[in-house]
Amino acid sequence: MSTSTAGHPPTALVIEDDDTIGRHLESGLRGSGYTTTWCRTGSAGLTAAHDNPPDFVLLDLGLPDLDGIELARRLRQDLPDLLIIILTARTDEIDVIAGLDAGADDYLVKPFSMTVLLARLRAHLRRRSAPEAQQDAEPTQLGDLTVDTAARRVLVAGEDVPLRAKEFELLAELARHQGSAVSRETLMARVWDENWFGPTKTLDVTMASLRRRLHTAEAAAMHTVRLPQIITLRGHGYRLDPPPPA
Ligand code: CA
Repeated sequence: MSTSTAGHPPTALVIEDDDTIGRHLESGLRGSGYTTTWCRTGSAGLTAAHDNPPDFVLLDLGLPDLDGIELARRLRQDLPDLLIIILTARTDEIDVIAGLDAGADDYLVKPFSMTVLLARLRAHLRRRSAPEAQQDAEPTQLGDLTVDTAARRVLVAGEDVPLRAKEFELLAELARHQGSAVSRETLMARVWDENWFGPTKTLDVTMASLRRRLHTAEAAAMHTVRLPQIITLRGHGYRLDPPPPA
C-alpha cells in the first residue's frame, strides 16, 4: 500500500458525475488502500476539498455544474500542494493542455484502465515524498537509454552519447519526471534560469538538437534499441514516455 509523507494512507477525492465511472474509481481506489471521497458535482467537490484537503484529486473535466478546467484552476490556487489528475473523454489536445495550464499535474483520457491509473498515482506520490537528490543517486534506465546524473553521462545501448550541458540537463529533467508532462516554463526555470521569463526559442533549439543526437545514437547502435519517446505537448511542454515493455 502507498503511504503519504505523513505515514497515513493517501486520501483521494473523486469528482465525477458519471455513476459507472465514479463507482469504478471509488472501489478501485478503496481496494488499493486510499481513503476515498466521491463527489458528483464540481461545487460538492470544491467544498469537500476545502473541508478536508485530500492528497490527490481525480477530476472529470465534463461536469454538470462547473467547468472542469476552471475547477482545476481554483483547486490549484487554493491548495498548491494538491496532486490534480484530470480525466477527460474529450480527445481534443486543447482540453488537456488547458487543464495542464490550469495547474493539473497529469491527465488520463477515458476510457483508461484502473491498473494504469494506479501506476500513475504511485509514481506521482512516490516522487512527491522522495527528495530529488535521492532520486538522482541511481542512474535512470529507460529501455536502452541510461541517464546517469551523478556521472553526467547518457548512454544508448551502453554507448556514451555526447551531449552539450543544456541538452543533458533537459533530458535529465524529463527523465526525472518520466511519464508526466513538464511545462516549458518549468524546463526554462530548471535548466536555464529560475528567474527566466520571456521567449523560449532556446528551449526549441536545444530540444531539436537533443533529439538529433539521440536519433544518431539510435542509428549507430549495432542492434534494434528501445528508447523512450519525447512527446511534444503543443502549447504546454514535453513528456518523456518510457518505451513499451520488450
Ligand atoms: Ca462527466
